[in-house]
Amino acid sequence: MDTTLITGIGSLVTNDPAHGTGPLGLLTDAAVVLEGDRIAWVGPAGRAPAADTVYDADGRAALPGFVDSHAHLVFAGDRTAEFNARMSGRPYSAGGIRTTVAATRAASDADLDAGVARLVREALRQGTTTVECKSGYGLTVEDEARALRIAARHTPETTYLGAHVVAPEYADDPAAYVDLVTGPMLDACAPYARWVDVFCERGAFDGDQARAVLTAGVRRGLVPRVHANQLGHGPGVQLAVELGAASADHCTHLDDADVAALAASDTVATLLPGAEFSTRARYPDARRLLDAGATVALSTDCNPGSSFTSSMPFCIAVAVREMGMSPDEAVYAATAGGARALRRTDVGGLTPGARADLVLLDAPSHIHLAYRPGVPLVSAVWRGGVLQG
Ligand SMILES: [Zn+2]
Repeated sequence: MDTTLITGIGSLVTNDPAHGTGPLGLLTDAAVVLEGDRIAWVGPAGRAPAADTVYDADGRAALPGFVDSHAHLVFAGDRTAEFNARMSGRPYSAGGIRTTVAATRAASDADLDAGVARLVREALRQGTTTVECKSGYGLTVEDEARALRIAARHTPETTYLGAHVVAPEYADDPAAYVDLVTGPMLDACAPYARWVDVFCERGAFDGDQARAVLTAGVRRGLVPRVHANQLGHGPGVQLAVELGAASADHCTHLDDADVAALAASDTVATLLPGAEFSTRARYPDARRLLDAGATVALSTDCNPGSSFTSSMPFCIAVAVREMGMSPDEAVYAATAGGARALRRTDVGGLTPGARADLVLLDAPSHIHLAYRPGVPLVSAVWRGGVLQG
């Protein structure tokens, strides 16, 4: 198998304390050997083994590819006007998610596929090598299954989110919509999905409805994750922990019991600062979660309505500025934290045996991701051992 030696790495984040200093397992003047799609060796540059190809990092920083564990990439249409009105202090009456649902239903398979491909490429250029992708803008049996079929062409991390909002056709009978989501729609979607998700929020699905959606998914072999406690306090986080969800996402409005439950569980608190940024809402308190001992992930929530960013570096910078995270904690959350939220042990770290997903920065340290916000620092990305062009 072909081997590549990346040497002259000024500062390397391995995310394994056994390989370097601190929780990030930091090494200076380091090297990495890639073999096929895996990491074969990590250590001091002076002791690196020979390889077929040598790449000189010239003092730049390297870190694991970002793991974006929460994104909504299968959609059509545009909500620029809604964003502009919101940011200009003007009321806007169009239907939010339902606007995107109408455009998505009307789009061709090829257009939806091209949209996902474009966003995955855009994220990759910014260092994201693993991305999760949800359905949730179809809200019919056919359109949800189509969204997941398309998503599965781009990532194995596909999530059934038929319970995003109640479909407009069921506005007067939400119970019938939950029956659809837990019945025929689930049957059509389960073959293309790894995860089941629900938007547990006032105006979307209440605790009992969310429980029905998640337990139905579990019976079909899907693993739960939950949109929880975003817009107000609700039962989402407690439900996520009770059902052993991989992740409770948003976690903006938490009481002490929610924080304690997350800290005592394997459920990751996935924070999505792009959503608060784009809606001028209060940011989640990452400091409180970290101090309590919870595992925190950072993700983009990339979607056309409330967070149209694919940039993990942007989320890192905001999390450091607004959410009480140190740069080390934010970088860890955007890599190893995301991997935990997807229950993956092969991504999110750079140690022998891990996937060869590696990012080089035009900077001497990963701290520059927060220190130099908005600057395109990602200078090279390997995904599965392949240098991306
Ligand atoms: Zn979301």
